[in-house]
Amino acid sequence: MPLPKNRSRSVRKIFRRVPKRGTVVHYKRRKKGKKHHCAICKSSLQAVHSSSFLPSSQKAPNRKFGGQLCTKCASRVIVIRNRLKEGLIKLEEVEIKYLPYVRHGV
Ligand SMILES: [Zn+2]
Repeated sequence: MPLPKNRSRSVRKIFRRVPKRGTVVHYKRRKKGKKHHCAICKSSLQAVHSSSFLPSSQKAPNRKFGGQLCTKCASRVIVIRNRLKEGLIKLEEVEIKYLPYVRHGV
């Protein structure tokens, strides 16, 4: 009889063949990964998965800063980049939290 903690249906049973002892049941609890968060504002990101069996195009949104920044922060960074390019603002005027992402492409 399995231990009470292993009688729940949320525990996965894995049957393994072992030399001399025949089959043995391994109990495995589901691993829940933590949610991914935006690097600037720390809000949780949507449509980001960290499972290894998915292709990379399905792990994160396929746009600039996808899987790194939320949509609000990404659009803010892109606006700042364009303003820097056009010379409307200087690099010193940009907030510190946006600097690593603004500098990256400039
Ligand atoms: Zn954000």
